[in-house]
Amino acid sequence: MRRAFAGTAAAPGMALGRVRLERPARFSIDTTPLPEAEVEAEVARLERAFAVAREDMAELRRKLHGSLAREVGEFIDAHAQLLDDPELIEGIRGMIRKGHYRAAAALKAQRDRLVAVFDAMDDPYLRSRGEDVDHVIARVQSALARQASNEEKKIATRVGEILVTESVAPGELAQLAGHGILAVVAGSGSPYSHSAILARSLHLPMLVNVGDVLEDLRDGDLALVDSVRGEVVVHPAAQDLAQYRNWQRETLREGQRLAQLAGAETRTRDGHALRLFANAERPEDIERARNLGVAGIGLYRTEFLFLAHDGLPSEDEQFAAYRDAVLGAGGLPVTIRTLDLGADKADAAGLVMASEPNPALGVRGVRLSLQQIDVFVTQLRAILRASCYGPVRILVPMITDATELAEVRRLIEECGRDLRTAGHEIPDQFELGAMVEVPSAAINVRTLLDIADFLAIGSNDLTQYVLAADRNNDQVGKLYRPAHPAVLRMLAWVISSARRAGKPVSLCGEIAGDPAFAPVLVALGLEDYSMAADRILAQRDALSRCDRKALRALAPRLLRAHGSDGIAALLQTATASA
Ligand code: PEP
Ligand code: MG
Repeated sequence: MRRAFAGTAAAPGMALGRVRLERPARFSIDTTPLPEAEVEAEVARLERAFAVAREDMAELRRKLHGSLAREVGEFIDAHAQLLDDPELIEGIRGMIRKGHYRAAAALKAQRDRLVAVFDAMDDPYLRSRGEDVDHVIARVQSALARQASNEEKKIATRVGEILVTESVAPGELAQLAGHGILAVVAGSGSPYSHSAILARSLHLPMLVNVGDVLEDLRDGDLALVDSVRGEVVVHPAAQDLAQYRNWQRETLREGQRLAQLAGAETRTRDGHALRLFANAERPEDIERARNLGVAGIGLYRTEFLFLAHDGLPSEDEQFAAYRDAVLGAGGLPVTIRTLDLGADKADAAGLVMASEPNPALGVRGVRLSLQQIDVFVTQLRAILRASCYGPVRILVPMITDATELAEVRRLIEECGRDLRTAGHEIPDQFELGAMVEVPSAAINVRTLLDIADFLAIGSNDLTQYVLAADRNNDQVGKLYRPAHPAVLRMLAWVISSARRAGKPVSLCGEIAGDPAFAPVLVALGLEDYSMAADRILAQRDALSRCDRKALRALAPRLLRAHGSDGIAALLQTATASA
């Protein structure tokens, strides 16, 4: 019988699928033996993965220019040779054919064996070749996993699963990527949580705060997640399915209309140029954003790299991820944010964090980085090494006081000196920015501007800290209002202070990509907007309807308006009269 459960839409879209209660098992290498009948197909998968890895390397090689092509090219060529090594491939093929290993398990066994052989060598140069084997096999594993996840996705669209869980941490969602889940329904949570941000980046419709849903649903129930109406419908009726089909048609039509704005400039109706940047959590986001035409990556959240990893990622692993992000941006600046763990992202494997009574006000972001200096230095070194591949800006989260940023600058300079002494060609100059997301940083922004090269306003956190309303708790969702005049006043103050100091300021919280906020932000004088790639076209469209002159003239009244309703009324007047 049809039943509907109301919730709060945290990531847009609709999905029809079968319920899967709780979270799926973590991604792991399947070590069960392969049935004889699947052996040749598995060998073919392995060969496809090698071919993809070779193509990845060739692509990387093509993207290198100047002295990099010489220096890094050599190292890439060595890896490419390894990929062509007949003994390596034959050995793995043999394990699949004779030992009935699955391709991923055979690769892992071969990797462990070869690395052990290299580790046992006396010659340090030969010993270091073990790392090359490791890198090469990791590339093939990743190509294999991408294939596997594509296959899983196909199955999932047939079976189609909707994850139903009490709550979902960002780390768990990061693990879900590519596992064929169609949508997420959670008993608790909020649209401004990091899980919600990640779900949007993964294109997973997500409903949160759905109450007792876990008790009332069964594994395998057919369900329709509807983020438009904010409900999940179990055993949907014919009219629900008709609505779903309508939504699919409309989404397609709107997507086609907006697609015409890809690559276009962003200008207000009265011709004022604005800059759109992308927020990225994963390398795919960068590729997607570039195709839509952006001025750069305004926020690369590095913590998801940590959350999706078993244990702490090493300097080399981080370097590879940041380098790929920089190469993926094709010469556009990439703003890499240093670790923002703590608060709702406290579950990173490999980091020992004390449990805190009030984690959002505790050791989070730069506070954690300055406490766990080894982890921070590893990350800074990896970022600096990646900055050889294209323009990189370093952004520091949760700055409360300018002295923290000064301390980070000192550490970066020290890391740069060490790396240069070790023979790395690290650029002399780097741009260092502060997130403005703690009220003290906003109020005291002039002091911060003495040290920062640029600012990025984190309105998601600034809103929760100004209004003392937890962004992860839908119980106080009514208080959590980014359009509250107190928040808008702070935004206006930070934007105008940065402009007077002649330093760039962007806004990278969720409202930057929300069409409903476009006129408010234009009124406050914001020029740089950073948002999820998915939001770029819709926001370009919304901004192009704004009359900047009329809205700027409205700003003083906007800041004096009584509550969000007053603001909405004012904006309506401006839109009507423009
Ligand atoms: C913010 O707080 O607005 C922000 C962009 O950072 P995050 O959402 O990752 O905390
Ligand atoms: Mg933040």
